[in-house]
Amino acid sequence: MRCLVLNADYTFLGVCDWKDAVCSVYTNKATVEESYEQVIHSPTTRMPMPAVIRLRKFVHVVFERINQVSYNKRNVHLRDNYTCQYCAVKIRDREATIDHVIPYSKGGLESWENTVTCCKRCNRIKDSKTPFEAGLKLLRPPAKPKGFREIMRIKLGELHDLWLKYL
Ligand SMILES: [Zn+2]
Repeated sequence: MRCLVLNADYTFLGVCDWKDAVCSVYTNKATVEESYEQVIHSPTTRMPMPAVIRLRKFVHVVFERINQVSYNKRNVHLRDNYTCQYCAVKIRDREATIDHVIPYSKGGLESWENTVTCCKRCNRIKDSKTPFEAGLKLLRPPAKPKGFREIMRIKLGELHDLWLKYL
């Protein structure tokens, strides 16, 4: 389980392992803002597993390019939620392929706007055709991720419900 880490002023800092979160709480560096349902047992104590912690002391951080996410195959899959953008089927990681909407051979680019997550079946149908030629329709036009939430979802993987109000 992962834990969201907030600065003293409730701004987002990052994500840590639950063990590090518990350690920060025990050493009085952070307070628990939200907890998961799971309870942690140790020989001396038990506590709910922290889902969101907040540092007691404000730390100054410079976020470099926090609002940018690099283009790569995995991030395209994360943007598309591992869902085939033609038939809407949910795909497992190793079965997800990348489809170039406008095929390479027709001048299509390797970009956020021209690549989508595609299941193997649709990829075979699509081949090196345009969606129109292949008789396939995109769920939505592919675009560069924008907005803090979407970028965080790609950077952090799945966002837990308990985290959402802090992001
Ligand atoms: Zn498909």
